[in-house]
Amino acid sequence: MRILVMSDIHANYTALEAVLRDAGKVDETWCLGDLVGYGPDPNAVVEEVQDIPNLICLLGNHDVGVIGKMPLETFNGDARRSLMHHEKVLTATNLEYMRSLPSTIKVRGEATLAHGSPRDPLWEYILNSLTARLNFDHFETPWCFVGHSHIQCIFILNPETDQISLDQTKPDTTIQLRPKMILNPGSVGQPRDRDPRAAYAIYDTEARSWTPRRVEYNIPEVQQRIREFKLPEKHALRIAEGW
Ligand code: ZN
Repeated sequence: MRILVMSDIHANYTALEAVLRDAGKVDETWCLGDLVGYGPDPNAVVEEVQDIPNLICLLGNHDVGVIGKMPLETFNGDARRSLMHHEKVLTATNLEYMRSLPSTIKVRGEATLAHGSPRDPLWEYILNSLTARLNFDHFETPWCFVGHSHIQCIFILNPETDQISLDQTKPDTTIQLRPKMILNPGSVGQPRDRDPRAAYAIYDTEARSWTPRRVEYNIPEVQQRIREFKLPEKHALRIAEGW
């Protein structure tokens, strides 16, 4: 099976469209959460995601905030402002759909899926070797796919030495999967690894391979909508630079 793995769309409909087009025909789509937050198009993104066939979709911390399962005070000022706007504009149907999604980890075939990390699926960021090492004890499958940090990367555990290596993957370079790995497809709507292109990955279950990918989209158009809705200017600036 050819599977599209994506995360952290963050209400950026233009980036989502570009990813779906660029990925082409896939057998399944796995979305690791954060449909909303930051961007201008929460309804369009939730509606588009709902229409994706053979979809597994987890909730992220921003999603849980907007459906009222986590107080918005737990988010920093600029993130909170967008979430308050999204809370107001999201339709009842879209909120209901989001409430039907799980906020826990999910196991599918050889992969464990989590938004943040397998031991703390909503909030923990896997950004360094220490956090990665602790999380390798929290999943049974050969590999685990996470989002949340918005950084396209791979953590590899060497079982002989117990050492972790961190690999900032190159787009379009296919990696052969082997136990144990934690892989992040990066963020569709707000990349933070200094490459502003929308990020995702293709997972091939037969070949046991992972191909990180990047695709350009119309950033000025999204910035214009962020400004139109008077969302924080920071959210417009960062998508052009990837931070
Ligand atoms: Zn996120």
